[in-house]
Amino acid sequence: VAEGGEVTYKKIKSKQIMGSIQLGIQHTVGGLANKPKRDLLMNDFWEMETIAFPPEGSSLTPAHHYSEFRFKAYAPIAFRYFRDLFDIEPDDFLMSMCASPMLELSNPGASGSIFYLTDDDEFIIKTLQKKECEFLQKLLPGYYMNLSQNPRTLLPKFFGLYCFHFNSKNVRLVAMNNLLPSDIKMHAKYDLKGSTFRRKASKAERQKASPTFKDLDFAEHHPNGIFLEADTYTALMNTIKRDCMVLESFQIMDYSLLVGIHNLDIAAKEKREERIRNARAKRERREGGAHQPAGPGGVAPLATDDDAPESDQFNQLQSVASFASIPGTSAAGLNRTRSMNRQRLVAHSTAMESITADLDATLEEVGDEPMGGIPARSENDERLMLYIGIIDILQSYRLEKKLEHTFKSLLYNGDTVSVCRPSFYAKRFQDAMGKQVFKKTPTFPLKHSPSKR
Ligand code: ATP
Ligand code: CA
Ligand code: CA
Repeated sequence: VAEGGEVTYKKIKSKQIMGSIQLGIQHTVGGLANKPKRDLLMNDFWEMETIAFPPEGSSLTPAHHYSEFRFKAYAPIAFRYFRDLFDIEPDDFLMSMCASPMLELSNPGASGSIFYLTDDDEFIIKTLQKKECEFLQKLLPGYYMNLSQNPRTLLPKFFGLYCFHFNSKNVRLVAMNNLLPSDIKMHAKYDLKGSTFRRKASKAERQKASPTFKDLDFAEHHPNGIFLEADTYTALMNTIKRDCMVLESFQIMDYSLLVGIHNLDIAAKEKREERIRNARAKRERREGGAHQPAGPGGVAPLATDDDAPESDQFNQLQSVASFASIPGTSAAGLNRTRSMNRQRLVAHSTAMESITADLDATLEEVGDEPMGGIPARSENDERLMLYIGIIDILQSYRLEKKLEHTFKSLLYNGDTVSVCRPSFYAKRFQDAMGKQVFKKTPTFPLKHSPSKR
């Protein structure tokens, strides 16, 4: 909710939420460093740690210039274990979360959740409803049993669950992996459920610089789907099938496949045009620059370097500054410069890694193509890179009914209606992805033969 230009959530300024949770995470994750690593125990899942942050500071917490707040970390030891599972070092996690202000993203969803993106592009923090937070708590043991059996998955990876308490209001937040690298321009983005009922981006959404489209838009833009090589197609479908089985076992519904499409052919064309524009601007500056009137009214040079235009991953609302109170904070973090082919911090987190357990060869970089995406073709034979993952999984059908709040009831309380709906949802989802959205590359020759990896 925007109020007088400032973004607020539950009437709390977004800046305050962000700054406070950075302090909170710094405290809880930093404090864990003193506790030696050990095996995960069942009661670690129910543990919570709450700490008060008075503005003047305390023996445990630093002084800060936000209002007094409390910060709660759910299952801190369990989440440390999960971060470890995905090779995230405590220092790296702290750096990602706390060293620089996060970027607030505009949310195309209807839920009113706020999303923050860490400055290094690795993590997304999403505000949760109370129900979703409770559900995630109960889900954790089983969910991570599945994830540790099979880390190659498109399911979201959760790395922390927190509650920020201020002015008798609670803001619950979850930290998870970011699926869409900001340094790779997404030429289109889809949130797909396999349903057609009202699955069209709103007019307001379509007018955004980087809209998130839905199923009906996809069918219109790609009436014949998107083509994958046979091996890739099979790997993707197997992963989706496995993931749906896990979701169904928890009676989860309403999840989506988020699909970001980077079009290599359009990107190459954009790069050429950009170079021509820059060369022209440089020439004009050289020829006319000396006579340019100084001061107001003087024309500022258009482009200054040959870099690709900064991507507007979602429309970046604002980045929030003034984090002087956090140790280790530097303004340099605001420079979002990253190499195109960088490795991601979170292991198994790129789209390609998520679907290929044993095809590691496919991860080799090819030329200056951005890494980590799943290679594909449009029906017009354009070369695509796909960035995908399953999102928004904290809606359980189980939650719509007032049931005993235990993990056991989540699994065993199977009346037919509630079992039926999630299973119908999963089946429809898989069918749509496997038959309408993704297709196996046809055997007749395409214009260029698909690149062999
Ligand atoms: P609703 O319940 O109304 O569908 P929501 O507030 O629960 O919405 P999500 O469905 O989780 O929000 O996500 C909304 C949008 O945010 C997605 O369509 C996608 O564009 C973006 N998004 C969500 N999670 C991620 C992620 N892990 N990485 C990148 N982008 C994401
Ligand atoms: Ca959603
Ligand atoms: Ca949701």
